Amino acid sequence: MSAMRPPASGATKTCPHCKSTILGSASVCPACRHHLRFIPTGQLEPTPAFSALRVEAAFGNPQASSYCEYSVVVAMRNERGEEIARHVVNVGALVPGEQRHCVLSVDVFTPADDNTRAVRREH
Ligand SMILES: [Zn+2]
Repeated sequence: MSAMRPPASGATKTCPHCKSTILGSASVCPACRHHLRFIPTGQLEPTPAFSALRVEAAFGNPQASSYCEYSVVVAMRNERGEEIARHVVNVGALVPGEQRHCVLSVDVFTPADDNTRAVRREH
């Protein structure tokens, strides 16, 4: 018998509930919040090492008598400024007086096996 090995760092999987691409180490889908696997007693669930970013903002229809349309886009760039991802998160229309609130968060995880490697000493 072999213990289940954790996925390699940065590996991804598809959530069976909402089909979002998520970290392979995730036990809860960050998109739909469904639990994805059983965590045995005594084993730590991956938790964010830190929150790198959290931005909340609201916007509304600036016009008093007609509707407006909006699109919410999230783009990611690497350290060289090259775009590595771009997704339209939501589109819609607002009538006068309607608002939408956006929350963008980036959680950074440190997989347990990486912590083990980090403290391993060389002989
Ligand atoms: Zn999901």
